[in-house]
Amino acid sequence: MTDESLWPVRNVGEYAYCPRLFYYMQVEGVFLPSSDTEKGHVVHKKVDKPTADRRDSSEETSHPDRPNVARSLVLTSEALRLTATLDLAEIKRTVAVPVEYRKGRPRRVDQLPSLGDATAAIESPVPTLQAWPTDRVQVGLQAILLEEDGYTVPETVLYYAAEKLRLTIPFDSALKDEALGALEAAKECASGSRPLPLVNSPKCPRCSLQPICLPDEINYQRAESPSTEASPGQLKPRTIWPPRDDGIHVLAQKNGVRIGVRGMGLKMKDRDGKTVKEMPLANIEGLSVLGSVQVSTQALRALADRKIPVAFLSAAGRLVAMVDPLDSVSADIRRAQIRRMDKQEYRLELSRALVSSKISNQRTLLMRNHPSLPKLASKQMAKEMEGARNAGSIETLRGHEGQGAALYFDHFSQMFKGPIASEFKSNGRRRRPPPDPINSCLSFAYTMLANECVSALRLARLEPTIGGYHTSRPGRPAFALDLMEPFRPLIADSLAVSSFNRGELTEGHFLRTSAGCAFTDSGRGAFFNAYGRRMEAEITHPVFGYRLSYRRMLILHARMIAAWLLGEVSTLSFLTTR
Ligand code: SF4
Repeated sequence: MTDESLWPVRNVGEYAYCPRLFYYMQVEGVFLPSSDTEKGHVVHKKVDKPTADRRDSSEETSHPDRPNVARSLVLTSEALRLTATLDLAEIKRTVAVPVEYRKGRPRRVDQLPSLGDATAAIESPVPTLQAWPTDRVQVGLQAILLEEDGYTVPETVLYYAAEKLRLTIPFDSALKDEALGALEAAKECASGSRPLPLVNSPKCPRCSLQPICLPDEINYQRAESPSTEASPGQLKPRTIWPPRDDGIHVLAQKNGVRIGVRGMGLKMKDRDGKTVKEMPLANIEGLSVLGSVQVSTQALRALADRKIPVAFLSAAGRLVAMVDPLDSVSADIRRAQIRRMDKQEYRLELSRALVSSKISNQRTLLMRNHPSLPKLASKQMAKEMEGARNAGSIETLRGHEGQGAALYFDHFSQMFKGPIASEFKSNGRRRRPPPDPINSCLSFAYTMLANECVSALRLARLEPTIGGYHTSRPGRPAFALDLMEPFRPLIADSLAVSSFNRGELTEGHFLRTSAGCAFTDSGRGAFFNAYGRRMEAEITHPVFGYRLSYRRMLILHARMIAAWLLGEVSTLSFLTTR
């Protein structure tokens, strides 16, 4: 892709900061705003203001001794395949000086006084202010572009807004070599595979891509492998990923509701045209639309502009379609997924980890909630879990999964209180159609969970339909069904147990017809209340040690699967509770 396209100078500058960050931005087109980038945006807005709007416009008048100032100057070099938008260039006849604005501070380097100084031995280091390497590369490349345009460039300038400091850097052969060297290295990096994350770097906590890159998590898993020398203890992941989403996941499910856009927000109206809800777009992370809810094209466009996915679900919660912003595809990850999921040994490795974790979580749920789980059942489930962990083929693995499920659902009803339990006990787990409230709730919860897994995989740039354990079929999100295996007991089953036992879901929330047992409108509302809380509940990751909401946990695991598919980590493990 990079052979034909132009390279933004800014991205090449990021290469000097972190090659992996550069790769995300240049090759995969990933960018996430952070508070730093937002502040930078404010500084650049000021710089980019047209001359007439500025109070200091006097400095830009054409006084013969003063340089002319060109703002937001776009320069391109076809030969270097490089493009840049300069914050500002000071131009006096054929001499030009690029000026780049930075919101932060320059680099502070402690230097010892020179050896010629007699007092050097007793003096403390003197701090000097320098440009950051990434900034040097950026202004160096800007200077090269200006030179190609026919200007003479004696120097470059970096303005650090936090210190109101103007740093001048001579445009000499050293800066030129440094900038061109970074460009070459960046081009080489872009033609290879994704670079590994930095190890224990102080840059990572400030990096907006950290939740996507997972530097500490990947390094920790790599260090656990016997082929590397670092000790896992030294690299225990830092808690730098916020435990929950800042945004909200909106679910619109009331028949006849229409969703439109007004200003910077979404507006929901009922079938009588009365506004029932308004919310700023900035607070939304995802929108799910159930049954006959209408969304205007303007609203879809506004959501897509902000990279917010929209899921359209049938009344039964099945995912029918998704409006997904176009940039959520990474060719490298897709290729890696197809390559590995074509090979039996990798499919087996993934499936063993998924199924053994699921049986482990099923057993834990029974042990926690069953008033008198027979020891033998617990032992047998542990045996099936061990068998799944070491299965030599997918067929053997399916056998262990089936045995585990039979044991689990044999004792499942005893986790529920009241008459609702006996109905499930006599029916057992039945799907099509679900004959009783517990079966109905489980089916609906699994469907919603599968939808969450599709979103998590899309965020990790994986293809939800190409599965490892589940066979791909048209319209089947096989990989999402894979990912959800360990989470079925943790999210869906546990939600059913707690909702019925607390009285949040009752017999009155269900409608029984010849087509089976299904939620009433109010029942579905009660389910979504409980479901939303479950997805936002936090849990401690047993390996990484930090707490995340279940929703974030799904995304974390989808990204760790992507790292495994790319060969960045050699082992796979999924969330299990004790
Ligand atoms: S989190 Fe760290 S390793 Fe990952 S892209 Fe950012 S700076 Fe690079």
